[in-house]
Amino acid sequence: MKTLRLILGDQLNHQHTWYKTVNNEVTYVMMELRSETDYATHHIQKVIGFFSAMRIFAHELRAAGHQVEYLKINDASNLQTFAFNLKRLIAEFNITRFEYQLPDEYRLDQELISFCKQLKIENQVVDTEHFLSSRADLAVFFNGKKQLLMESFYRMMRKRYQLLMEGGQPLFGQWNFDHDNRKKIPSNHSPIEPYLFVNNVTEVYKEIVESGAKTIGKVEMTKFLWPINRTQAIQLLDFFIKHCLEFFGTYQDAMSNQHWSLYHSRLSFALNIKLISPLEVINAAITKWEENQNTIAFHQLEGFVRQILGWREYMRGIYWMKMPNYAQLNYFENKRALPNWFWTGETKMNCLKQSVDQSLEYAYAHHIQRLMVTGNFALLAGIHPDEVDKWYLGIYIDAIEWVEITNTRGMSQYADGGIVGSKPYVSSANYIKKMSNYCPSCHYNSDAKVGDKACPFNSLYWNFYDLHSDKLSKNPRISMMYNVWNKMDSEDKAQILSQAALYLEKIETL
Ligand code: FAD
Ligand code: SF4
Repeated sequence: MKTLRLILGDQLNHQHTWYKTVNNEVTYVMMELRSETDYATHHIQKVIGFFSAMRIFAHELRAAGHQVEYLKINDASNLQTFAFNLKRLIAEFNITRFEYQLPDEYRLDQELISFCKQLKIENQVVDTEHFLSSRADLAVFFNGKKQLLMESFYRMMRKRYQLLMEGGQPLFGQWNFDHDNRKKIPSNHSPIEPYLFVNNVTEVYKEIVESGAKTIGKVEMTKFLWPINRTQAIQLLDFFIKHCLEFFGTYQDAMSNQHWSLYHSRLSFALNIKLISPLEVINAAITKWEENQNTIAFHQLEGFVRQILGWREYMRGIYWMKMPNYAQLNYFENKRALPNWFWTGETKMNCLKQSVDQSLEYAYAHHIQRLMVTGNFALLAGIHPDEVDKWYLGIYIDAIEWVEITNTRGMSQYADGGIVGSKPYVSSANYIKKMSNYCPSCHYNSDAKVGDKACPFNSLYWNFYDLHSDKLSKNPRISMMYNVWNKMDSEDKAQILSQAALYLEKIETL
């Protein structure tokens, strides 16, 4: 039976059962498509990262004896969509069976389901063998429950995999050690420089430019810094557990002008394209901690494991439970367009300038920059969630819809009305000042609420609560903020609201 097996660009899992045996009746197919380069305006490093890793993966499969049909972006025979290319190959190779792995994106899932419906040959979809929970696990776990708390899901996952457990109990008697984490970088502490690869991607870059695909951001063609094969993914993991794990939790929320990735692992791209598995990342961290308990405190490890075993799996579960409706949610009915400086970094607000500039330069910002700087501003300014999603989906190397939209529309923009988060993640300048060194060199004054140079976050923050009091004031987690606002002098309140209105009016020039 002549079989064609499709491998998507984010399915580069060397350990998959498919590759355990070489079968001459099986042809694998991988394709670089305009339908994929064009569904969002991607960062150039993202497109290069995907295509380079795909090419290497195909080469490695061939070296292991498998038959691989690889369509490059500018190949004359490339018809630029999955359906057109698959139809052609099935006819040309007399294929009698088609197989694919479960796509992680709803868009592609639907596309392949409808493609298979039209097929006159046998077809089958198999698991990607990557995630630690199935698509439906989260929905089953929370069946009948009102709140979908990440913490409950995480505890179930800890028990299921017996990770950081002692019998039925969490190690050291507690599930979550977050209170030991989240410190600012002290002025006398020099974080480690990130471990960067120097891949030469000139050829791929030129082909992408030649294809006419529109991209954003910068790239150094002879120094592409992201891992593009499994060996590099493992090297990055090794670097993380050796040098970063011991400070991971402590500085996980810190932000710095001088250091763009601090102690973050930068493994999200390698994880999301499946070069490395979540369980091997977690196990490597646990083993390192077991061997170095005198230098690596448990809260550093627990914080890291929670991101992967908890948040990552949870977001995927929410995605499959709530799509396609999730992509339409706009709880606050926000309408404003994203300011153009999100695409250029040309703003006087230093925190935003730093976060956007670094995103354009590296296709990366760490979680707190995404949540408490760019996301925080977008929510306070009432930007339409579609615009916000488009930006996050394009700019980050790790952005694939299942994990981007749940974080952006859900966690960051509260557009889901509280499915992912129990309250909106918004803050005034206070939080940014506390967790970063952005404010002292900013054009704006972080302590002022009104006046020429008042930090926009301050007035927009109170404006946000005032505007949405009907939707938020009864939320027990934020009632304290409403107490403060309600007790404020009415003249002060009026000034803050008019300052916010002025800033929103001239948002493009902030
Ligand atoms: P680390 O800080 O080293 O964390 C380790 C790993 O934990 C990450 O590699 C990631 O796999 C996982 N992780 C941590 N937080 C989350 C989370 N909230 N959701 C899912 N996994 C998590 N992550 C993406 O992979 N793709 C996205 O498109 C994406 N978009 C985001 C958009 C917004 C608005 C926000 C607030 C967060 C987003 N995240 C996204 C989650 C998180 O910010 C990134 O996973 C993380 O910054 C990647 O960097 P890292 O590998 O250095 O992470
Ligand atoms: Fe950002 Fe305001 Fe601080 Fe400037 S003063 S860096 S705008 S928080």
